[in-house]
Parts: sequence; C-alpha cells; structure tokens
Amino acid sequence: MIFEKQDILGEGLNVDLCEDPSCFVFENCDFNFSDSVKIKGRLTLTGELVYFRGDITASIILTCARCLKYFNSLIQTAIQVDFLPRENKPDEEEIELEASDLDIYYYDNVSISLFEPVRDQLIISIPIKPLCNANCSGLCPHCGQNLNEKKCKCPDDIKIDPRLTPLEKLKHLKEKQ
Ligand SMILES: [Zn+2]
Ligand SMILES: [Zn+2]
Repeated sequence: MIFEKQDILGEGLNVDLCEDPSCFVFENCDFNFSDSVKIKGRLTLTGELVYFRGDITASIILTCARCLKYFNSLIQTAIQVDFLPRENKPDEEEIELEASDLDIYYYDNVSISLFEPVRDQLIISIPIKPLCNANCSGLCPHCGQNLNEKKCKCPDDIKIDPRLTPLEKLKHLKEKQ
C-alpha cells in the first residue's frame, strides 16, 4: 500500500490492491473481515499535492445489535484523500483545529502510504448499530428466543421492553385498585 512519488509523475498511477485485512489493526472492534480488502483507484500528482480517488470493498462479519446473530455485510465506500508533504503538517496546537479535516494526510515527499486513509475510511463506513435486517425482531427479553426464527410462548405482557417494566407494574397496581 506504499507508492513512490516518482511513479505517479505524468499520467498518474492506477491502484488495484487486494490486501490481507490482518494488516489493519482496529482497536475495540466487534467485527471480523471475511475476505481481503480491495482498493481500486488512481493516484495523481499536482505540484507537491498527491490525490487519491478510489473505492474500497470489504466483506465483514458483524453482530446484529438486536438478535446478536453474526451476519455478513459488504462494505463499499468511496475514498477521496489528499496528501501534503509532511513539512506542511501543522504543529501540535494547530492539529486540534484541523482534526475535522479527515481527508488530508501527509507524506514524506518520497512515498505515499494508503494504509492510514484506507483504515480510517473503513472505520467510518462500518455501522455502529448493525442490523441483520431492517425488520429484525430481536430476542425475547424474557426467554431469549430469537423471534426471527420462531415465536416463543412468553405472554405478551412480559415481552415489553425491560426499561418500561416499572411503568407497566404501576399500571397493573392501578388496575387492581
Ligand atoms: Zn438481527
Ligand atoms: Zn420469550
């Protein structure tokens, strides 16, 4: 994923990579890659500025936030990054101001690494609350049955969201009075 600036001169350089996902280290992640990460695009050079425009494709295994089942998800995302020579990198104090500018990276004037931008783009493309299906029925909060597979025999009144239970109890007490 490292390219020499001299190879980009002129026409630019086509990038077509198939990377082993183990080269990306994600902290506190709850997903796994099920296939290699594909990166396609083009590096171009304008003056000292290097541009990369392309697409990333990755197949990952996520855990459904409702039913806790593993499912396979295909991530396809565009990537657009600019690389400035490292001497243009702002000082520590200035970095905070520029932190929102996710699409700017730095290079040492000789070689350009796509590693960091690809990893960052993957992180923002992976859903925080993944669902196996938009209509996933989740688990019964009482017996744990996966309600997508079959209905359980728990009475409906205990299948309510556990966070609402105190309210429901109050309702029952009022009904008895
Ligand atoms: Zn689900
Ligand atoms: Zn149940």
